[in-house]
Amino acid sequence: MSNKTYVVVGGVAGGAGAAARLRRLDEEARIVLYEKGPYVSFANCGLPYYAGGVIQDRERLLVTKPETFTDVFDIEVHTDTEVMSIDREKKTVKVRGKDGKESVQTYDALVLSPGAKPFVPPLPGIDDPAVLQVRNIPDIDKVVATMKKAKKAVVVGGGFIGLEMAENLTEKGIAVTLVEAAPQCMTPLDYDMAVFVHQSLRSHGVELRLSSPLQKIVRHGEKLDVVLPDKTITDIDMVILSIGVTPDSHLAKDAKLDVDKKGYILVNENFQTSDPSIWAIGDAIAYPSPFTGTPWAVALAGPANKMARLCADAIVTGKPSIAYPGTYGASVAKVFDLAVGSVGMNARSAGKADIAYGVAVTHTPDHASYYPGSTQMTAKIVYEKPSGKLLGGQVVGYHGVDKRIDVLSVLLAHNGTVQDLASFEQAYAPPYNSAKDILNMLGFIASNDLAGLDHLVDYQQAEEMIKNGAVLVDVRTKMEFSLGSIPGAVNYPHAEIRGHLDELPKDKPIVLMCAIGLRGHIAGRILRQRGFKDVSNVTGGYKSWHAVLQEKDARTLHQGDANMEEKGNETLTLDACGLQCPGPIVSLKQKMDTLEVGDRLVVKATDPGFRSDVRSWCQMTGNTLEGITEDNGMITATIKKGERKEACSVPACMKAATIIVFSNDFDKALAAFVLANGAAASGKPVTMFFTFWGLSVLRKRPAKKVKKDFMGKMFGAMLPKNMDDLSLSSMNFCGMGPKMMKSRMKKKQVSQLRTMFETAKANNVRFIACQMSMDIMGITKDELLDGVEVGGVGTYMGEASKGDVNLFI
Ligand code: FAD
Repeated sequence: MSNKTYVVVGGVAGGAGAAARLRRLDEEARIVLYEKGPYVSFANCGLPYYAGGVIQDRERLLVTKPETFTDVFDIEVHTDTEVMSIDREKKTVKVRGKDGKESVQTYDALVLSPGAKPFVPPLPGIDDPAVLQVRNIPDIDKVVATMKKAKKAVVVGGGFIGLEMAENLTEKGIAVTLVEAAPQCMTPLDYDMAVFVHQSLRSHGVELRLSSPLQKIVRHGEKLDVVLPDKTITDIDMVILSIGVTPDSHLAKDAKLDVDKKGYILVNENFQTSDPSIWAIGDAIAYPSPFTGTPWAVALAGPANKMARLCADAIVTGKPSIAYPGTYGASVAKVFDLAVGSVGMNARSAGKADIAYGVAVTHTPDHASYYPGSTQMTAKIVYEKPSGKLLGGQVVGYHGVDKRIDVLSVLLAHNGTVQDLASFEQAYAPPYNSAKDILNMLGFIASNDLAGLDHLVDYQQAEEMIKNGAVLVDVRTKMEFSLGSIPGAVNYPHAEIRGHLDELPKDKPIVLMCAIGLRGHIAGRILRQRGFKDVSNVTGGYKSWHAVLQEKDARTLHQGDANMEEKGNETLTLDACGLQCPGPIVSLKQKMDTLEVGDRLVVKATDPGFRSDVRSWCQMTGNTLEGITEDNGMITATIKKGERKEACSVPACMKAATIIVFSNDFDKALAAFVLANGAAASGKPVTMFFTFWGLSVLRKRPAKKVKKDFMGKMFGAMLPKNMDDLSLSSMNFCGMGPKMMKSRMKKKQVSQLRTMFETAKANNVRFIACQMSMDIMGITKDELLDGVEVGGVGTYMGEASKGDVNLFI
């Protein structure tokens, strides 16, 4: 306890927190807080959401009012009062109040928490009144007022404030173009993770201009032109500048305190500056990084609040109550439905720091996939080699992203390793997680890599290896391969690879790739134990690699041709909610057939399989999936109609499918039509060949009277009369089974068999009845449904030889 005077500069996260903690530790002291703006302790993190109307009451942004500071904490608060200079000799600060009058205040300890201000590049037009920033409440008031009349906005900068503003402007119906100088948004992420953020932005209608540094802004009457190197965006009503921040540290610089090259104030472990009577915290300082030991500036509220507390401890007691380890940069942001989080180093920063590192990536459902509502989550870790020490992690997904980042953050703070990640125990029940968390999985994957049981490479390393002669082996199933693959890959499904060992070269590096990395690992184990020495596995698999390739496509379309005439193209919507596979894909195809090249279709579906089906379908059919999001189980895909592919990257993909229907069981016939419709929707010519009992599926209702011999009559009486009369292959329960099944199908909105037949017909599926079986069973063509052809085994073989999918049901 003392009679000291503590002066605090800055009244928001760091300043307000330090002042309050100082009071709790020292009841006798005089505490004076200066804030140059009109408000203290306001929720700057909530500002974008106030602009978007998510936070409706402006008052809710004011977390603690000046009166509370005075009444409860006995802190003298001076708003609209700027600290102009520091006299270190006299231990005074000069302040200028609201009325312009200047005064001098002495201090025993001075805390600087002036924060960081938006960086404003010196470009022509940057000071236009419609070019706005978002730092405080007066800023957001201007933004909200401008938004009222705005139709088109440009957000410059793809960091978290820029993305939050892009989302909230879009939610208010304003068309947003996001301009970013770097090739990606969210630079704490690596590119292969940022592409998922780009997809989310595009799917919500935000136009992305990446690698496009702002050149100038030109006013034309009421509107602005935003000039980029390759394009001018015209008719803009407002620009949000969120290029990054620069420390608001001129006081410290003028007082000759030590600052780094960028102006961040340098402090010791007690947050003391180079003057022991002056402390500094928050966004304006650089503190030794726990990873590299060199000063690191991170503009985040969590660290600012923690520093505030520890700095007050150090002022009153001589040292922080807990040693501050430095900032790990744990952050999470909402980008429409997607949550995007990161902590620690990414692969780029590990590379720049010359650390030998490895990466592991995987994709899993955020909770048990059998429990409703699971959505895809993608996670990546960066670890030191060979020690396995964790360096950082990134997660994108729809639910539970923050939880994973928090776990990684705690492990990083305790020098955790990938082995710790493999063994950490998580709370599990199906609605929340899986028995093995995605982070456990990453721990297993990285541990295998370190133990030499696998050799992980990312998509870039794989590309480089292939360029240098490595063979890319796709170990997914033939069906997956036909739905899309990396050009140049050969396909040996992992379960069959033992039978193809002679076809794989032992003298060349082999790069294995599956969907996410698991089957690649399994195939790798087989190959290594069979004498293949140089085997690698693409971490994150096709899902990661394909996402990067899709990004290239999207960028070509969005900005490769800046003058592309988009006018006249239409955007239509399709509601396929409630339909089960292949319903959404079939409806999608039918709708797309009605569009012109360049038109867009926004499809909404709830069948979880649609998420991956639509990607493959687009790839096979030459259309572009511009974005896909999922919100509480509702998948929204935006597809741009392209020229139909003459030859796609995977030559097999447009081959035919033939399905032999041998059975007259209801469930088997149903499965046959589901597959036929799915294949037809993906552009494959499909032939269904009905033979023996399968002919019952094609019988007309009502039955046509025809003349039959004795055996024909016998078969006619024994066989189901038509497709409505079929029984289940098991659990038939004297005919109750099919009824129950049909009612379930109705409830689950799965089309009935007859509708599936009609859909298949509409999709040009060929139905061939086997002549030989008809002869044996005494069935005539007149008894069969319209549109059915009669053919022999030759017809079937002819069709089968054109195809790459051949099924017997
Ligand atoms: P600030 O909170 O910026 O406070 C500094 C104050 O000092 C300012 O009010 C300034 O007016 C005042 N000041 C400066 N110089 C003087 C002077 N000479 N005299 C008097 N007063 C002065 N972080 C997260 O972790 N998560 C988020 O979701 C998040 N969202 C954000 C959204 C927005 C729009 C913004 C702007 C920031 C967001 N942040 C977020 C960052 C977070 O708000 C900052 O990291 C945190 O507020 C830093 O605290 P600080 O005390 O260092 O600086």
